[in-house]
Amino acid sequence: MKAYINNTPHEFKVGETILNFVKRIEGEKIIPTLCDAPNLEAFGSCRICSVDVALEKDGPTKVMASCHTPVTEGMYVYPSSESIQELRKNIIELVISDHPLECLTCEVNGNCQLQDVVGEVGLREVRYPSEFENHIDREKDLSHPYMTSDFSKCINCYRCVRACDEVQGQFVLSMAGRGFDAHIVKGADQSFFESDCVSCGACAQACPTSAISDVFESKSTKFDTKERTICTYCGVGCNLEVATKNGEILSIQAPIDAEVNGGHTCLKGRYAFKFFNHEDRLRQPLIKKNGQFEEVTWDEAYNFITSKFKTYKTEFGPDSIAGISSSRCTNEENYLMQKFFRAVIQTNNIDGCARVCHSPTALGMQRVFGTGAATNSIEDLKYTNCIMVIGANPTSGHPVTGAKLKQFAMKTDNVSIVIDPRKTELAKYATYHLALRPGTNVAVLNMMMYFIITEGLANEQFIKDKTEGFEDYKNQILNIDLDQLENISGVDRNLVKAAAIAYAKAPNAMSFHGLGVTEQYQGTFTVMQIADLALLTGNIGRKGVGVNPLRGQNNVQGAADMGVQPHQGAGYLDVTNEEVNKKYNAFYGSTLPKHIGYKIPEMFDAALDGKLKAIWIMGEDVVQTDPNTQKVIKALNNTDLVIVQELFMTETAKYADVVLPGASFLEKEGTFTNGERRIQAVRKIVEPVGNSKVDGQIVIDIMNKMGYQQADYTAKGMLEEISQIVPFFAGVKWDELGTTGKQWPVKADGSDTEILHTDTFKRGKGLFAYNAFEESREILKNGSEYPYILTTNRDLEHYNCGAMTRRTGNVEIHTEDVLWINPQDAAAKNIKDGDMVCLESPRGKVDIKAFITDGVNPGVLSTTFHFPEIMVNNITSDEHDTEAYCPEYKVVSVKMRKSKGKFAKV
Ligand code: SF4
Repeated sequence: MKAYINNTPHEFKVGETILNFVKRIEGEKIIPTLCDAPNLEAFGSCRICSVDVALEKDGPTKVMASCHTPVTEGMYVYPSSESIQELRKNIIELVISDHPLECLTCEVNGNCQLQDVVGEVGLREVRYPSEFENHIDREKDLSHPYMTSDFSKCINCYRCVRACDEVQGQFVLSMAGRGFDAHIVKGADQSFFESDCVSCGACAQACPTSAISDVFESKSTKFDTKERTICTYCGVGCNLEVATKNGEILSIQAPIDAEVNGGHTCLKGRYAFKFFNHEDRLRQPLIKKNGQFEEVTWDEAYNFITSKFKTYKTEFGPDSIAGISSSRCTNEENYLMQKFFRAVIQTNNIDGCARVCHSPTALGMQRVFGTGAATNSIEDLKYTNCIMVIGANPTSGHPVTGAKLKQFAMKTDNVSIVIDPRKTELAKYATYHLALRPGTNVAVLNMMMYFIITEGLANEQFIKDKTEGFEDYKNQILNIDLDQLENISGVDRNLVKAAAIAYAKAPNAMSFHGLGVTEQYQGTFTVMQIADLALLTGNIGRKGVGVNPLRGQNNVQGAADMGVQPHQGAGYLDVTNEEVNKKYNAFYGSTLPKHIGYKIPEMFDAALDGKLKAIWIMGEDVVQTDPNTQKVIKALNNTDLVIVQELFMTETAKYADVVLPGASFLEKEGTFTNGERRIQAVRKIVEPVGNSKVDGQIVIDIMNKMGYQQADYTAKGMLEEISQIVPFFAGVKWDELGTTGKQWPVKADGSDTEILHTDTFKRGKGLFAYNAFEESREILKNGSEYPYILTTNRDLEHYNCGAMTRRTGNVEIHTEDVLWINPQDAAAKNIKDGDMVCLESPRGKVDIKAFITDGVNPGVLSTTFHFPEIMVNNITSDEHDTEAYCPEYKVVSVKMRKSKGKFAKV
């Protein structure tokens, strides 16, 4: 298909706009634009991109906005005719007549699109009197820690409004007034801080002038370098572009061409980076002497640690030592940490934070499919008709994916099912919200399976060709007691039936699950059912379907891939298997044990039993984030040597004997693997602060001091080693990762894999395995005395223990943990909004501020655990998933009463 640019024929793509067609052929600068932005829908308001168009050679021309006009066969486009150039100049002249001419003092001078376009169209003088002073409020909005506005610089291009709507789906910005009075308003004409803004910064990035900016002046030209890296917070794995000046970080922006986040981040990725050189950063190794930490040299710390390790290993055996690795750290560092424990200490006592989040996902999906990772990519939302989001609050926990899910749910033709005890933001837009009692996922999923089978909606061909165990499974499902399950879950069976039918009838359905699935007594069984639901309906192995766990921390997927688990080494190889053992022994030049090591809860039990002598915890605040805080503290106090490698003096570090200062993601290189199995390059932006060191190098130094030879840390060198032992990393090369990485498995030839199980499953056939609902042990043991169910979750502004986000401007936006209470429960206890409430469980008590909301049902309470001042995990339970030992944070039996604070009765 051909169209003409200045009478020269060129091929065009179906649906291509004139603007994109001309840019592709003639280059970016031929047609100036203002209201157009690559990550927004074409809008056609500024008309700067107008071109002359004729339907035949030398035929009459018509002026058209090129950004939203599609090219048609035989079209003649004249992008820069004389009349078009004049038109553009006139348009810009009108824009400028209503804009302050303060370029030299403007913060975006040199990087302002309006300034560029003025230059491009050749405007030199303005014939009209300047009007803006008369009608535009020149007061800057400085209410927010990150976002500012100065609407005297606004050119009414609507880019900020559209970014807020189309990218984030928040609808905070809108246009009020007409003509010269047209102006942007936030919320109900509020400040940024007062409005419902979620501080993602999409508007600031979209604004072509400085009408909306961020405090880090991300549009400034005063930078030395710009480098791409990956966000350190959640498993979405957003690409970041970091600008630096004199070795300091100036700002972070979201690259438009990033496959994961295409010009978007949440406030954590874009703004919450100032923790990296905060005054609280640990800058020197510390050893506790006479109860006080004293600064020591690295050599002193290494000698102290290695002499203790050698003594314990000799006197008590290798299993007297254990390690907890970090999902904050790179793949290469996690690989090294597990290698240290397996090859140097010779124990499998190595585990990571997946134990307390997605270990049931890995196990459950491995049982059903053979592989415990997301089957598809978030990109597949473009190809699906139905989403089922269970036990996840992605707009807070995984904000960039959450925004995409929200955009999906807001489209009326799409079906969205939310299964969650809380009225999450997504639940507000969902077609079906199944607000079940916490701990009853299995009951609801069994009911869904029942209705799919009884309505004749099971995909029989898929089941026959690709699965096993179905007949048995079906018989068990058909025997469930619907009355009982409806009663237990508290969800009307008709609602479950409607959701089940919608999922099964959708041509393509994707499921997404989070910790509301895994952090339960039946976590692994729930994951198996989500996977079986996909098998039952044939929703696996192609675009727009699949089972997609929303992985928590930035590199929790990678830590498990690298062998940070006590039962599987690097590449998920079974440590008890004879052949695997031989392979590891030969590769590592050591003798590795063949028995499974301690999982994290077992490490604490072993410490309390006096069996564990030393523990090395890298980048994990177990005191604040693991359940039953007082038990964790007792376990650490009962361990002879506690080494904590950290950025800050966390609650856990306070109990350490040795503290090693590690490096943040901005100070090191390596790779993170996101929740879509995407291995992405983390690039060093600045030097480690003070005398801190790259975590991988610390592990290597200790390996060498223990007598095991390991070359110094480089991402390239480590990936070369990893690619030889982890089968699905066979073709991963540092120099070939580019800016958006590769999804494993990566074959030796470098080709990667977007979708898993397209042909067969890793285990051969997909497995149907029925699991009946079982009540949580916590409820059975404590439910009668402690009648409320507390479920814990995360907020948008903070990440996990908050050690990083609490040291950024985020703490000004979200200042404390609060307790969600249903109005009915609050009235029964005479609790008002803002009152202090004492929550008590069999493990302890906490005082917390009440937030009265219908976001939870009566009998259910909800809070976060970001603030050590509250220390919510003092009351959570160390009851855990029966299979993977993931703690049951989501079902905690508590009682509550109004309090004066510090547990005092009112
Ligand atoms: Fe970082 Fe996750 Fe936010 Fe992306 S969505 S910027 S990865 S915290």
